[in-house]
Amino acid sequence: MNWDVVIGLEIHTQLATKSKIFSGSSTQYGASPNSQASLVDLGYPGVLPVLNRDAVCMAIKFGLATGCQISPRSIFARKNYFYPDLPKGYQISQYELPIVYDGCLEIVLEDGELRTIGITRAHLEEDAGKSLHDDFRDHSGIDLNRAGTPLLEIVSEPDLRSATEAGIYMRAIHTLVCYLGISDGNMQEGSFRCDANVSIRSRGEKKLGTRTELKNLNSFRFVEKAIQVEIERQINVVEDGAEVVQETRLYDAGSNTTRTMRIKEEANDYRYFPDPDLLPVIIEDKLIEKLRSELPELPDAKRNRFISNYALSETVAEELTSTREIGDYFEEAVKSQPSVPPKQIAKLIQRELTEALKKNSLNIKKSKVPPEIIAVLASKIQDNSISSSAASAVFEELWRTDSSIGVSNVIEKLGLEQISNEGVINTMVDDIIAQNPEQAEQCRKGKDKVIGFLVGQVMKISRGKANPQQVIQTLKNKLRGE
Ligand code: ADP
Ligand code: MG
Repeated sequence: MNWDVVIGLEIHTQLATKSKIFSGSSTQYGASPNSQASLVDLGYPGVLPVLNRDAVCMAIKFGLATGCQISPRSIFARKNYFYPDLPKGYQISQYELPIVYDGCLEIVLEDGELRTIGITRAHLEEDAGKSLHDDFRDHSGIDLNRAGTPLLEIVSEPDLRSATEAGIYMRAIHTLVCYLGISDGNMQEGSFRCDANVSIRSRGEKKLGTRTELKNLNSFRFVEKAIQVEIERQINVVEDGAEVVQETRLYDAGSNTTRTMRIKEEANDYRYFPDPDLLPVIIEDKLIEKLRSELPELPDAKRNRFISNYALSETVAEELTSTREIGDYFEEAVKSQPSVPPKQIAKLIQRELTEALKKNSLNIKKSKVPPEIIAVLASKIQDNSISSSAASAVFEELWRTDSSIGVSNVIEKLGLEQISNEGVINTMVDDIIAQNPEQAEQCRKGKDKVIGFLVGQVMKISRGKANPQQVIQTLKNKLRGE
């Protein structure tokens, strides 16, 4: 409890351009090795890079969405280092003048608290190739298909205060770039990955502690786990009287530990200098305004609109805006049944649909139950035709079979119509009171817990079909005259 934690993330997002940032090669994932590497990507002498305009526009969109300054003039720099998957011997990146800088993103913490995380800068750069080890013995393969794929590196201020916050921030950036359509966000294919900088300091101390950098974390869960063990490691080091060494570390998921990769290099080790082959990027206001007008509704705005238009809670709105697609699905369902409270529809989406999608690893666009059908199902709960537990079974059947059969037909087929007939419910309640004289007596004397037991008995003999609200009311009426 004596330590404060400080974290800053550097997130690498692959931009969803068709061709690479400085060449015409395709960026399509999954092609056979080196089939998408042109002479520019291979670093042949005499070839010249040509900047991809789409990559620039995407970076500007990100800047606009996060309130960043857009540099009227930015430049590309060479970051020099040697690695087999970097044939030129340098990576083209941006150093002193990034394309966008000085913005922020608001995140919602678990308890609903809002936090603003500063975005220092986001710069354009090219990705490196890949070294392949698995299919080879005694040597490694080099696949340069990824070399030259455009990346936007999004650097946060050291504003994050726990592993969980870092995870929330990373998810928020992921949601944002997907909303903006500037990245496919596919983490399995490496389109979205991050380096986490972690340090600790005594509680209340203002000065930043020495940080370590955890490289190449490519899942939300790993980011959180890696940061957590790194925090614990640093605390142990300091409490044992030693000092944290500034270095780059790797997270090993198997052992859930981090280990030294290399002692931290300084910026000047890279001998950054402006790339003489590329002109400065000049961005005019006209382009900025055009891109601003093309921005979609952003996650925050959508969340707030869902809360005020549809009377959803903060957490439900958060989930229903977690992707553009789920928000669209929800709104289509609401539109198709305007008399059903949106909350009722939201509940079914969260309880049934998201579960079914998860279980089948399906994207919501491939849902077997379309929005109009889930809306009809919600209307059946609303007008008391079925209970919400029966709705679960109906949903499963709709999902399993062909949902175009129609909700009413499935309800009938499964025999799940809710019993709301007063006479029928009266008889069932009378039976249960007669069969349980002791519990009925306790209930008469005001023991509320026992009502639950009696309701349960009625539900049992009705095979779950009695309207529970009505059963409670009838029981209270008969036993207490309420
Ligand atoms: P570099 O380019 O060497 O990686 P930067 O100074 O650009 O270093 O910082 C990279 C990231 O590290 C940023 O996200 C920043 O917020 C974070 N950071 C810097 N200092 C600290 C620190 N003491 N503790 C935690 N994070 C830090
Ligand atoms: Mg770094």
